[in-house]
Order: sequence, then C-alpha cells, then structure tokens
Amino acid sequence: MHLFDKCYGFQSAKMLKSLGCYPYFGPIESELDAKVVIAGKEVIMLGSNNYLGLANHPQVKEASMKATNKYGVGCTSSRLLATLDLHLKLEKELARFLDREAALVFSTGFQTNLGTISSLVGRHDVLIMDREVHASIVDSSRLSYGKIIKFRHNDLEDLEKTLSSLPAQKGKLIVVDGVYSVTGDIANLPEITKLCEKYKASLMVDDAHALGILGKWGRGTGEYFGLEKKIDIVMGTFSKAFASTGGFIAADEAIIEFVKHHGRAFIFSASIPPASTASALAALKIIEKESERREQFWANTRKMKKGLSELGFDISRNEGSVIALFVGEEQKTFRFWKALFDEGVFTNPIVTPAVPPGESLLRISCMATHTEADLDRALEAFERAGKKLEIING
Ligand code: PMP
Repeated sequence: MHLFDKCYGFQSAKMLKSLGCYPYFGPIESELDAKVVIAGKEVIMLGSNNYLGLANHPQVKEASMKATNKYGVGCTSSRLLATLDLHLKLEKELARFLDREAALVFSTGFQTNLGTISSLVGRHDVLIMDREVHASIVDSSRLSYGKIIKFRHNDLEDLEKTLSSLPAQKGKLIVVDGVYSVTGDIANLPEITKLCEKYKASLMVDDAHALGILGKWGRGTGEYFGLEKKIDIVMGTFSKAFASTGGFIAADEAIIEFVKHHGRAFIFSASIPPASTASALAALKIIEKESERREQFWANTRKMKKGLSELGFDISRNEGSVIALFVGEEQKTFRFWKALFDEGVFTNPIVTPAVPPGESLLRISCMATHTEADLDRALEAFERAGKKLEIING
C-alpha cells in the first residue's frame, strides 16, 4: 500500500459535496454575530460558540486594535522568551475572577489541555477521564506517560469502581468537561467531588462551555454547584464566550509554576498574540459587568429548547448551554442541516467519530444577541425542514 492511497481513496467529503449537503468550510463573509453571511447567503447563526455575542462587540474590537497598534501582530516566540505585560495582566485578572492563586495563558484551549495534562500525569500517576471529554483531553492522554482509564459518561458508579481499584498511594487526576460540548450535559460535580475526597484524587474541569455563561457571575460549573473550591484546576478557552483565541488554567501557584516549566505545548509554541490577549481581557471585563448578557443568553436558550421540544424534536434534556437535536442516521442529519441552511438557519451536524455510529445529531447554540424574531424565524424553519424530512410528524 502506498502512503497516500488513503488520501486518493477518501470519498466521504466528495460524496456529500455531490449530494449538495457538505456542511464544512462555507466561508463566512460578514461580521460574526447573530446573523452572518455564509457563501453569499444570510443565515441565523445557531452554530457558533460566540455565546455572549462578544466577537463583534465594539469595546472588544477596539481593545484588539489598540493592542495591535501598540505591540504589533505576533509575538514570534514562546512565552518563555516573549511574555508581554498584557499576558501577565490577563493571567492576573483570570486568577482574580476565579479566586485562584494564579493562572497560565496558552495559545489555544487545545494546547492548554495538552500541556497541562501531559505534564502533570507522570509515569506513576493515573489519568481518569469521562468517555465523552473533549478531543484535546483524549489527545492529552496519548501524550501522558501515566496509566489512562476512561469511565462511562457521567456514571458515578463506574467512576467509583475505577477509583476503588487503584492503589491509594497513586497520584490520580480526574478530568471532566464542566459542560459537554456536544450534548450540553453538565458534569455531576457534587458526586464527583465527593469521590475525589474519598479516594484522594485531584480534579480538573474543562469549563470551555461554561465560563462566562454558567453561574450567577459566569464563573462556570464550579460556581453553578457552589463547589468552586473543590476543583483543583479550572481550564477555560477564549474561543467561546470570550470570543477570542487562546486558553488558560487557573489553580494554586505551585501547579501553575510546574506546568509553566514542564508543559511542552506551552514552552514550545508561540505566545498568544497581542490582539487576542487584549480582546480576552476586554471580554472578561464585559462578562463581569454585563450580567444581562448572560441572562439574555439563557432566556434565548430556554426559548429555543422549549420551542424545539413543543415541535416534537428529540432534544437533550439538561441545563447546559448547548442543545443536541438527535436525528440518528448520518445522511439524514446532513440533509436536515442542508434543509435548514436553505431556510436561512446555520447549525452544526455532529457525526461519527464525534458520536457513535447511528447517533448523529445537530448541535444548536444560541447567542445573547439573537432577537425573539430571529428565534421565532429559526423555529419556523426547524418545523418546515423537520416535517419535510419526517424527523417530526407533518
Ligand atoms: N475543550 C472543549 C470542551 C472544547 O469544546 C474545545 C473547543 N471546541 C476545546 C477544549 C479547545 O479549545 P480551543 O478552540 O480554544 O482550542
């Protein structure tokens, strides 16, 4: 077999293109907000992580332009050699926001998980993760020298079975998503933190889909459950509610110092650029000041969930920030995506390997900047497309 045979034989994208329902890489040609223009067509954006609508906020844009004017466009070296005062300011602000001793900013959320987990879980340690954690955590496990164990999604019995089988003296890191990115399920932190105490395990929560939106002050899943102090490491990204690019962890100073000097994805990659750093800082300010955005985001999400449910769609039943609309068959999911796109609504089809075969779904996420009229129009589109494809009764 030639190395490239798999490339020349790769057919699935071609097939979707020939059917006219290829959902990826459609170029966005407008400002990034509640409505966008994709490939020349205006659509209601229900497929972004721009939860609070900050990607197009004048203050956030202004901060990013000012930073570019002051520092230039890129740091051209790793944080070890190219740390800006702006990076340190952002780390200080994040640590204050989450009431932690320190924080460490990486260039992406993906790298944050890679650098943190692979440096902390050494040869004699065990990494225990939920089966449905984000791909970056799965890949971190491939870079860690320790033993890797997965437990069934949000299944506390399975987690306890795993923990009870491990020697007491082993270092143990449990990693979960606060809010799962595909289904919106929320980690059962009350029970997980009890098990952490019982079995002396440490806990890291990837709160990418909760920070900025979940909890009264937007401090994420820990705040939502009143358990912030029970989480050892909070991980976040700037690519969701913060509407920028980059990621971070917040934890005790000793943990931050260690990861800073051992995390390969931190040490051997260029620092987050000035514009992204400044926009994350500006977004944090708004997240702290404008709680009405958070409230509007949740009001919109509740309206969407209620509307879809009343139309008869099978949707995820949880209190998360993401709505999963279960379709099942992969081709039907792509055809549903296309029917919605033609109706002027943009969503995200999620198929295998992100979900098991036969469990394809549409991922829907609202924004604080959607109007009632946007959501009503979207629901009408869901009704028409759903009936046409017999996903709901006509
Ligand atoms: N964790 C979770 C739960 C995510 O959903 C994502 C992004 N999809 C990441 C980490 C990676 O973040 P980034 O996009 O900043 O690399």
